[in-house]
Amino acid sequence: MKNFSVFFSKTSPVYTFFSYSYGISTENVCTVRAMTLPEALEVTKIHSIAGSLSSDTPLVTKRPFRHPHHTISANGLSGGGTTPRPGEISLAHNGVLFLDELPEFKRDAMEALRQPLEDGTVTVTRAMAKVTYPASFMLVCAMNPCKCGFFGDSTKTCTCSPLARQKYLERVSGPLLDRIDLHIEVVPVSFAKLAEAPPAEPSSEIRRRVVAARDIQRQRFEGLDIHCNAMMNSSMLRKFAPLDRACSELLELAMARLNLSARAYDRIIKVARTIADLEAKPNIEPQHISEAIGYRSLDRENWGR
Ligand SMILES: [Zn+2]
Repeated sequence: MKNFSVFFSKTSPVYTFFSYSYGISTENVCTVRAMTLPEALEVTKIHSIAGSLSSDTPLVTKRPFRHPHHTISANGLSGGGTTPRPGEISLAHNGVLFLDELPEFKRDAMEALRQPLEDGTVTVTRAMAKVTYPASFMLVCAMNPCKCGFFGDSTKTCTCSPLARQKYLERVSGPLLDRIDLHIEVVPVSFAKLAEAPPAEPSSEIRRRVVAARDIQRQRFEGLDIHCNAMMNSSMLRKFAPLDRACSELLELAMARLNLSARAYDRIIKVARTIADLEAKPNIEPQHISEAIGYRSLDRENWGR
């Protein structure tokens, strides 16, 4: 995952989060792998129920990319109506749900994401009916470090008070952050620095490594009802992603120092397993754990202070 890059056309620091959700992983965004026919049929059914299929696309073949506005209601995200219809999280099934300016979303809308991120489904209950829709999506969110957007910016001054800054960050709850695998701080880069940067690894090469990592995972879980590291439960984690003593000690130290939750602990191991897969390494090594810990920047106690 060393060459994983995110680019945003903003000038101030932006926090970007990635959640592997239930069955989708960051790798899908890097590669935009074509959907299989069963996946395409699933997506098409959901969009058909929602009435969003057009006559010229009777079969949805491209992975969905949904980016609802932050004014959306909890029902708009999770689904609703007298006869429950799919919400944005189901319309993003097998694809990406992108939430820009995450703290601006309504609290109940953000919290509506929690269960689907665990289960890959959402149940919508109304007086007329109770319906469970698939909701296995990759959640990608972005946010500024404060309301004015300039905290940490080297060229402009943040006008927010420390308390206002803290309140802004706290709009995103700990339990939601816990369910997000990668937290990445994207700092502004000057044009001069961009121009002098050496050429990065091309996307085609990254795609090759990602596809290889996915194949490793497919073989690892052959015969089970999961197909990628993100879907491992706790017992699978112990079996397929064991840690040696050096890795365990490193993770224990990080847990204590950074005050990480038990859920974050599992996610770090899953991410470390994926990083090792991307390097075609059979075992998780301390540098994989370190890198995975580095993607939990929002868990740190001093964040935003
Ligand atoms: Zn500010």
